[in-house]
Amino acid sequence: MEYIDNKLLYLHKNKLLRECQWLESEQAPKVSINEQIVLLFGSNNYLGLCNDQRLKQAAINAIEKYGVGAGGSRLTTGSYRLHQQLEEKIAKFKGTEASLVFNNGYVTNVGIISSLCNSQWVIFSDKYNHASIVDGCLLSGAKLVRYKHCDINDLEKKINKFKGQYNLIVTDAVFSMDGDIAPIQDIVNLAKKHNMVTMIDDAHGVGVLGKDGSGTLSHLNIASEEVDIQVGTLSKAVGSVGGYIAGKKTYIKYFNNLARSFMFSTALPPASLAVSLKALEIIKNSQNRREQLLKNSTWLKNQLLQLGYTITNTETPIIPVIIGEADMTIKLNKHLLSEGIYIPAIRQPTVPKGTSRLRISLMATHTKEDLTQLLNTLHRYGKQLGII
Ligand SMILES: *Cc1c(COP(=O)(O)O)cnc(C)c1O
Repeated sequence: MEYIDNKLLYLHKNKLLRECQWLESEQAPKVSINEQIVLLFGSNNYLGLCNDQRLKQAAINAIEKYGVGAGGSRLTTGSYRLHQQLEEKIAKFKGTEASLVFNNGYVTNVGIISSLCNSQWVIFSDKYNHASIVDGCLLSGAKLVRYKHCDINDLEKKINKFKGQYNLIVTDAVFSMDGDIAPIQDIVNLAKKHNMVTMIDDAHGVGVLGKDGSGTLSHLNIASEEVDIQVGTLSKAVGSVGGYIAGKKTYIKYFNNLARSFMFSTALPPASLAVSLKALEIIKNSQNRREQLLKNSTWLKNQLLQLGYTITNTETPIIPVIIGEADMTIKLNKHLLSEGIYIPAIRQPTVPKGTSRLRISLMATHTKEDLTQLLNTLHRYGKQLGII
């Protein structure tokens, strides 16, 4: 079809065509990708749980007992006791009355926002919010007002201008492509003042930040009740797969009945539920891993700044190195790959045009030697390509 050919040609010409890189090993600091052994910087497996022996065993035990497929959707034949246990555990972990597990973080956001909001609503959404939030907003049919990234003054200005009958403020807690943290306390205060609903997505905070790894609210010393709707994923630091909402019982009942991505999709397989249950236990007792991870992240960030690289204002193990043009970003990515280092190149539409970047993210299982090798290689090619 000409339409498709033209679009592909456009992507190709602008260095925006993407393709999968094929892994042939476990998700770990050293992986085999496209039949090459490389050091991996860019995984969301922050605590190194994806290949944890205890979690593998939890999956095997669950498969032995329950089999492999869930066999039905959540409201028909696919809800297992394991779902119930996991939902209770998440609620306790997040300090809320209840929680509801979805199949992943993407469909959680899409299902929650599209079932809560409609054309009577105005949604105020940070410009850098994750695509799944944006898609939920678009699907809802609400009026979407995007405010400047983490800019509370711009948010208030826009609230005063566009506020409607029902209003939602939604933000990533940790921004996935920048690693910075939203001004949640300010947002909560504004929402109270204007009687608005608040929602945060803590996909990158859970397991990494806060007491027991419970996430960004704890990290910022904000009580759980202050935010109406908390969503997150079980697919990143938790090392499994799934998404969840945590909040008041009435909210959970509402989404249980109305969120279409919850209702019309086969439930998660029992093994994934068992892995999430066990992982949440492990995360609580992983304070040392968390501290080491954050220490390594701060160290690497400072070293990169010293080399002359531009880094976002990050406070987490997400350390994006801003290159600018997509072309140059791919060049550096390819050079690094030739030296056995893989960092994903992030381009538009994931990030704004002209801010293409290599998105480094660290795992607790990276060693100092891994980081040193990364720095040396980035030093060499940064100079060679005239980036630093
Ligand atoms: C990754 C991510 C999601 C999607 O979660 P999945 O479980 O991978 O579908 C949602 N929101 C944010 C902020 C994310 O970074």
